[in-house]
Amino acid sequence: MPTVLTHAALPVIAAMAVGRGRSSRGLVIACAVAAVIPDLDVAGRAFGISSESLLGHRGISHSIAAAALIAIFGGALLAGRYRWQVSLPCLFLSALSHGLTDMLTDGGKGIALWWPISDERLFAPFRPIEVSPILLRGFENGKLPLVLLSELIWLIAPALLVALLVRILVPPHIDLDKGQS
Ligand SMILES: [Zn+2]
Repeated sequence: MPTVLTHAALPVIAAMAVGRGRSSRGLVIACAVAAVIPDLDVAGRAFGISSESLLGHRGISHSIAAAALIAIFGGALLAGRYRWQVSLPCLFLSALSHGLTDMLTDGGKGIALWWPISDERLFAPFRPIEVSPILLRGFENGKLPLVLLSELIWLIAPALLVALLVRILVPPHIDLDKGQS
C-alpha cells in the first residue's frame, strides 16, 4: 500500500480543488478516514487471517463493493450535516481511491477490486509506487524515504497538479454544507 498518510492526503488534495470556503472540513476529515479504513483489514492477522484469504489484507475490504458500503455507512453517520448527493460520492471515491492506489504498488498481494463478482486479486499494468510496510517496524531497513519519494512523485504531485488545474479552470459553484445551496 501507499502509506496511511498518502491515502488520507488524496481526499484532502481533492478538497483543495474545490476550494477553501466551499468545502467542509468535517466532510474532508470523514473522507480522509474513509480512504484509510480499508487497511483495517490488517487486524485480521491477529486472528490468523492471512493475506491469501479474501478476508485478509487487500481482500474484500479493498473492493468497489466495500467502498460503497463505507460510503453508505459514513453517509448515514453524516446524515443531516451534509447533502447525501455530496457526501456519498465523496466518501465512495475516497474509499475507492485506497484500492486503486494500492494497485499501483510494486509489492504485496493484488486487490480484490471486483469482489463479489470476481475473487481475482488485481494489480495495475503500471506499478511505479514502492510498496509500504503496514507496520512501522517494516521501515527499519531505511525504506521509508524511498517509499515517500515514490508516493510524492506518482501520487501527491500529480494530484496537486490536477487540483491546481481544477481550481484554475473550473468556475466555483459547489457548496458542500447542507443549507448553503
Ligand atoms: Zn490497502
